[in-house]
Amino acid sequence: MTGPGRVVVIGGGVVGASVAYHLTRLGVRDVTLLERRSLTCGTTWHAAGLIGRLRGTRTACRLVDDSAELYARLPEETGQATGWKRCGSLVVARTPERLHQLRRYVALGQAAGIDAHIVSAGEAGRRWPLIRTDDLAGAMVVPDDGRVIPADVTQALAVGARAGGAIVRENVTVTRVRVRAGAVSGVETSAGTIACETVVNCGGMWARTLAQRNGIVVPVWPVEHFYAVTRPMDGVTPDLPVLRDLDACVYVREEVGGLLFGGFEPRAKPWLADPIPDDFAFALLKEDWDQFEVLMRGAAERIPALESAEIQLLLNGPESFTPDGNFVLGEAPGLRGYFVAAGFNSGGIAGAGGAGRALAEWIAGGAPTLDLTAYDPRRFLPRHAEPAFLIERMRELVGLHYAIAWPNREPVTGRGLLRSPLHERLAAGGACFGTRMGWERASWFAPAGVEPRTEYAFGRQNWHPHAAREHRAARESVALFDQTSFGKLTVEGPDAQAHLNRLAANDLNVPVGRTVYTPLLNERGGYESDLTITRLAPERWFVVTGSAQRVRDADWIRRHLPAGGRVRVIDETEAWATLGLMGPRARDVLGRATDADLGNAAFPYGSAQKIVVAGAVVRALRVSYAGELGWEIYAPVAEAGAVWDALTRAGDVTPAGYYALDALRIEKGYRAWGRELTPDDTPLEAGLGFTVRWDKPGGFIGRDALVAQRARGVSRRLLLFALEEPEAVAWGDETIWRDGRVAGVLTSAAHGHTVGCPVAMGYVACEPGAAAASLLAARYEIDIAGTRVPATAALHAWHDPKGERLRA
Ligand SMILES: Cc1cc2nc3c(=O)[nH]c(=O)nc-3n(C[C@H](O)[C@H](O)[C@H](O)COP(=O)(O)OP(=O)(O)OC[C@H]3O[C@@H](n4cnc5c(N)ncnc54)[C@H](O)[C@@H]3O)c2cc1C
Repeated sequence: MTGPGRVVVIGGGVVGASVAYHLTRLGVRDVTLLERRSLTCGTTWHAAGLIGRLRGTRTACRLVDDSAELYARLPEETGQATGWKRCGSLVVARTPERLHQLRRYVALGQAAGIDAHIVSAGEAGRRWPLIRTDDLAGAMVVPDDGRVIPADVTQALAVGARAGGAIVRENVTVTRVRVRAGAVSGVETSAGTIACETVVNCGGMWARTLAQRNGIVVPVWPVEHFYAVTRPMDGVTPDLPVLRDLDACVYVREEVGGLLFGGFEPRAKPWLADPIPDDFAFALLKEDWDQFEVLMRGAAERIPALESAEIQLLLNGPESFTPDGNFVLGEAPGLRGYFVAAGFNSGGIAGAGGAGRALAEWIAGGAPTLDLTAYDPRRFLPRHAEPAFLIERMRELVGLHYAIAWPNREPVTGRGLLRSPLHERLAAGGACFGTRMGWERASWFAPAGVEPRTEYAFGRQNWHPHAAREHRAARESVALFDQTSFGKLTVEGPDAQAHLNRLAANDLNVPVGRTVYTPLLNERGGYESDLTITRLAPERWFVVTGSAQRVRDADWIRRHLPAGGRVRVIDETEAWATLGLMGPRARDVLGRATDADLGNAAFPYGSAQKIVVAGAVVRALRVSYAGELGWEIYAPVAEAGAVWDALTRAGDVTPAGYYALDALRIEKGYRAWGRELTPDDTPLEAGLGFTVRWDKPGGFIGRDALVAQRARGVSRRLLLFALEEPEAVAWGDETIWRDGRVAGVLTSAAHGHTVGCPVAMGYVACEPGAAAASLLAARYEIDIAGTRVPATAALHAWHDPKGERLRA
């Protein structure tokens, strides 16, 4: 490993300061932080400084935990105060649904090591005497939450970075990042050029346009973000916990004897400055009382004394948000040495400590040390950074921050970026659409007379019976899925096989016409991807990957190319439609639309052929994510409609959506990338050791780590669960209890319509090398919002464990 060389951090907000600080702590000596005006002058200086630890995922919780721990110790380390105050927080619920969500948070906290508990409305009132409680369903207390003074945190980080050898320069603007041979070679600045091998774009709301100059997608957009501050009020004491009334979209904290309250309006107001003025520093936007009205009203409903309080300030500052509300954190695709840390969605103060550390570890060590895929810059397409899309999405996105996090919640704005050629047919068939990586995809189909609209709930949602029908069709008859959003890459050239075989843990040394299911692993033996690779010709491979992974996987394959490697990687996602024909009758139906021999001998499981369907030459792969006899048919986009029509004409084929497919695959024990398979999970932990060819010539990336893990035994293991209450509803992030103690968190869950109960998967901790029998003999329960539901654990699939139906 060569190390990061000289690192230039662009931007002196809390995030840039944290990255610089952590780089020096990790021993990176040559670090320069450049700030166009003064430290904190962008967004950081006016933030409210709340540090809330309970987030939607364990990684997110961990990043904030790291921040809180850092902000508490920085004063002693640097001599500079941070204003850290462990005041705790109180989150009130107005409705049973909100309380349900808080109970889910408490359960997640148990798995993440964060203390949180539910209290009654009366107890909430005792902890926050100024609030009205008669309309509350209950509340959640998080004792270790706190607050800081953001500008002080930033200064402390800068002091620490300087002490570690970093150079911090203000009044220097980076105008362009220089590139040589696909890698960063320097930065051009208002004070001359600086050679460097690594840059970190921490440019806040300026990050998008700066990145664009190098063709890098950083979809962030500033939104007008408000809080008000009152004059001192009776009954307000400095030790009040931070109050959040999520149903009213507001947070409230003490500020010099008065209250500071702000929030997340259901319909937000993007700042329509493009470009952002160069001279914008320590600046604010215009007061807008109309926009603030909804927050003012919500806060006053909760704290009646606010009606008569004197407001001394309405602050409106810009904050950058991203299309999905997650940070953009990581190395950008296609340009070695270009890192990004931007788009903090009003959580930059809470997130900066942990995010800065995670990114610095990545830069210093050459690879991420934990699963950061939720923040991956490669989860976006160029069109996600288009102003029209961003502006539209921002109006909705901000409000989702405090909205109930319904399972399956889909945004309603910025839709329709990518449409399958089958879209109109799906819509005519009653599809209710969801979105993934810009694509519109059928989630489920409404029969005649039913509106194709999901009604959100934590219990069974309205599509349950319709997805059940699709599910049964795939198991008992035949279903047709439009899987066009799959990522599709062609990898070709004289060195393609050798190159792919070094990345794949399975063996790609197979005859033309074979499809191989394989992990792509990192050096830690963790999943970078999980996909199928088909040999189309001696030097040509067809890589099919998940919808969300196309940019990431193409980047992974390209960035590991050896110098001079004769390999081309072409993203052909939009060129091919994918039709998944799945079910025991798939052979009969496809057989009526083609003359090809579909018998087991001529077309066995795991093989691929060119066949003609409805006059179109298509690629048919005999694979199935539903776990049934079936084919994925790759048709040129222009001919996809004709193929769909031919298949549906061939007899009683049920169009089916992604909700059914998800349940089918969980019942069949098929792991999904991003859920069961992440950069932190290995094939041995996931129970997919059969996909690893340990001794293939030349080895593969991740082999050493796997060999070591095999020798010591795994200390966590993926189990499959069947819940013992058929009516229970799990969504996939519930806590797993074993013999009365927390053992892990579910990664996926759905109702298994074939087995007749909820089915799920999740990792549990275990003694290295623990016998499977002892693991399975334990007593398992799944915590669904505070109610523990008994569950049976297994290592094998609940449906067709031997795969006989797949090979039928
Ligand atoms: C009203 C309000 C309340 C908030 N409350 C909270 C809260 O309670 N808790 C919380 O966690 N978060 C909160 N936030 C969000 C938080 O302030 C931000 O997420 C965080 O400050 C972002 O930090 P940053 O370093 O990414 O951006 P910034 O602070 O904007 O820093 C980016 C810096 O990059 C510099 N820069 C840009 N381009 C260049 C260039 N080309 N060359 C050199 N320098 C460049 C800019 O001058 C700027 O200083 C709040 C935000 C607002 C607006």
